[in-house]
Amino acid sequence: MLRQVVEGVLIHESGFCQSNAVVVHGRAGVLLIDPGVLGYEMAALANDLRELGQPVVAGFSTHPHWDHLLWHDRLGAAPRYGTARCAATVRDLLSDARWKARITEWIPPDIAEQVPLDLLGLITGLSADTARIPWDGPHVGIVEHQAHAPGHAALLIEERGVLVAGDMLSDVLIPMLDLNDTADPIEDYLAALRLLEGAAGDVDVLVPGHGSIGGADQVRARIEQDRAYVHALRDAHVPSDPRLGPAATYDWVPGVHARQLQRLTRRSQRDGTPG
Ligand SMILES: [Zn+2]
Repeated sequence: MLRQVVEGVLIHESGFCQSNAVVVHGRAGVLLIDPGVLGYEMAALANDLRELGQPVVAGFSTHPHWDHLLWHDRLGAAPRYGTARCAATVRDLLSDARWKARITEWIPPDIAEQVPLDLLGLITGLSADTARIPWDGPHVGIVEHQAHAPGHAALLIEERGVLVAGDMLSDVLIPMLDLNDTADPIEDYLAALRLLEGAAGDVDVLVPGHGSIGGADQVRARIEQDRAYVHALRDAHVPSDPRLGPAATYDWVPGVHARQLQRLTRRSQRDGTPG
């Protein structure tokens, strides 16, 4: 079930929304990025790693959304990290007992019982000047931006040529903007795409949070595709985007687009400014 994408980097794709968990080999164990969603999948991942003699020595959540904050007790008690802003957001959310209740409403009912929420979001924030994940393994650079969710980080494993994009650059999901308490979500998204473009020049493998793994050619193509979508959204044009069209992988994505368009229209009417 673990699939090697390059030497020393493996992924596990979940049955839930093609979520990719990423395993990076270090000297004394592995770094586990966005561990997964379904309890039995995370337990099987833990077993596989145990059989390989590779304990999890560090974890990382790319951003403060429930499907990237899960953990399974069999994965052990390694430190789990996120950006400071991600961790602060999660702490705020967890301090409100209603948040977990709300999550159970977001999780599709057919998998609800298979998503273990007890270890949700127990992450330590890395201060904003932290350039890479503190662990004994290849350098994993943190590329923090404010698209999609507060304190979202893409990770760059330079010596392996891998970009772990979190919830951007997907071939199945459109850009989903953070429309909660943000001043300029469109510009935040475009700025993040520019940042990734600058960071990903030598990348051979792109791992999105959801969807298929891309090669070097896909990095630029998906940046362009996401940018074209965000421009269309900004200008209220009809996007010609395969992730939304008749061949879309997920039939709920057009609904996400419609809601984003509606909320942005409402914001610009409220603010009296375009965009
Ligand atoms: Zn996600």
